[in-house]
Amino acid sequence: MPEMRTERAITAKSPFELRVQGARGMPEPDVRMALVTGDMGFLHSFTTGATVDGPGVRVVAWTSGCMWRCQYCHNPDTWALTNGSPVSITQASEELRKYRHGLKVMSGGFTLSGGEPLMQHRFAVKLLTAAHGMGIHTALDTNGFYGDRLSDEELGPIDLVLLDLKAWDPQKHLKLTGMEVAPTHTFAKRLAALRKPIWVRYVLVPGVTDDMDEIGQIAAFAAGLGNIDRVDVLPFHQMGKYKWQQLGIPYPLADTRPPDNDLIDRACDVFRAAGLTAY
Ligand code: SF4
Repeated sequence: MPEMRTERAITAKSPFELRVQGARGMPEPDVRMALVTGDMGFLHSFTTGATVDGPGVRVVAWTSGCMWRCQYCHNPDTWALTNGSPVSITQASEELRKYRHGLKVMSGGFTLSGGEPLMQHRFAVKLLTAAHGMGIHTALDTNGFYGDRLSDEELGPIDLVLLDLKAWDPQKHLKLTGMEVAPTHTFAKRLAALRKPIWVRYVLVPGVTDDMDEIGQIAAFAAGLGNIDRVDVLPFHQMGKYKWQQLGIPYPLADTRPPDNDLIDRACDVFRAAGLTAY
């Protein structure tokens, strides 16, 4: 894979900035080769100092490419793989190396998020393994659909999985995300068998994912796994609304408001009633 495409500096940018066509002009065979080898990945953005994507202060790399179509997605510009900028595994690893001491001091680490990072699973494995090898705590933020792409051995260098559980009922999940829920549950059970810690992430959307019975079923499932360190109830927000508009994609939640504190508290209480720690 030619290094010349990756010489652009990796600069910290918010995932809430719209970014498209970062890999414009890259030949299709090069894109395919990157996915096969993992020698190159496609990053939408790269942030430092994040505090919500795993323990401590984190460096977060946001990959491009996602096969889900969540109604509440705040980064629809990450759906297309080629909206990300090509970055070699060497360059990404060296960038991380700059932060390794600081991350240890701040009890933080590195989180690979997206998009869906396992769309580029070879690159994800290589980058997380490299970070782990530097002594950096590693987290993978995933919807879990492609969890079976990673062997048990490849899961080894991943210290924590941030797993999105979006809906319980299969039909609701299909409507909300466009994809089936079963592979995510299979991956969650596998992580439990491996005793791999999970932080569950649940996006709370008024009128869409605020059915307390549904949340109770997710809570019961999660509690039964035995490897859930915490649950983050993430309030829906409209920071990505302009992206849907600028990309010309019909946005089903254009008029939906964020949940109020009472609704957030009630959702957290449902998880707590199942014996989980929820924020
Ligand atoms: S899985 Fe994440 S990136 Fe993909 S559509 Fe859903 S919210 Fe967006």
